[in-house]
Amino acid sequence: MMQLRRDGITDTRVLAAIESTPRELFVAPNQHANAYANHALPIACNQTISQPTIVAMMTQALQVNDRHLVLEIGTGSGYQAAVLSRLARRVHTIERHKTLHETACHRFEQLMLRNITAHLGDGSEGWAHAAPYDRIMVTAATEEIPAALLTQLRPEGRLVLPLGRDGEVQQLTVVHREGETFVRTPMARVQFVPLIAGA
Ligand code: SAH
Repeated sequence: MMQLRRDGITDTRVLAAIESTPRELFVAPNQHANAYANHALPIACNQTISQPTIVAMMTQALQVNDRHLVLEIGTGSGYQAAVLSRLARRVHTIERHKTLHETACHRFEQLMLRNITAHLGDGSEGWAHAAPYDRIMVTAATEEIPAALLTQLRPEGRLVLPLGRDGEVQQLTVVHREGETFVRTPMARVQFVPLIAGA
């Protein structure tokens, strides 16, 4: 927590959400010793769980409150969705890998996080059934913002995502919807696994 404060995480609700989410439950048993180290960790299917500082930074930038409906693309371990679920009214999260999706669902049940709905599918299409969303977070890198996500974002809504090419440094970006205008603000340089569109 001291490290997160040093990294500029000042929102006490975000710090509390992170504190109440046991990161060791979201990593493989052989990574338990590393669960609280401030770096990314491998999860199944060649994917990664983000560094705590990045999770905190993205969560803070999203400015979520308990009236918000949130969409996350890239469930992965489920850790980011679990953190968001402490702050939001409801979280929808989408993952394209069945193994990751199922493991994350078990963790949400174990932790009794009943306000998370997890879906298996292509998140670049968003999740139209529950749209519009007050907040959207994409936890995989993409060069272009998928059009469906802009459509499913409520006016005055916010979207946080890493923009840039796979394998290169990407720009963590906040997109604020002002009517039909989408204002982009770059925040930090990051490196994420790619968003893979299609089945
Ligand atoms: N938020 C996760 C980390 C995500 S890593 C956590 O807290 O652990 C990025 C994830 O995005 C990976 O699990 C990857 O499989 C998933 N992904 C990539 N492209 C996707 C797509 N089109 N739709 C849904 N999930 C996708």
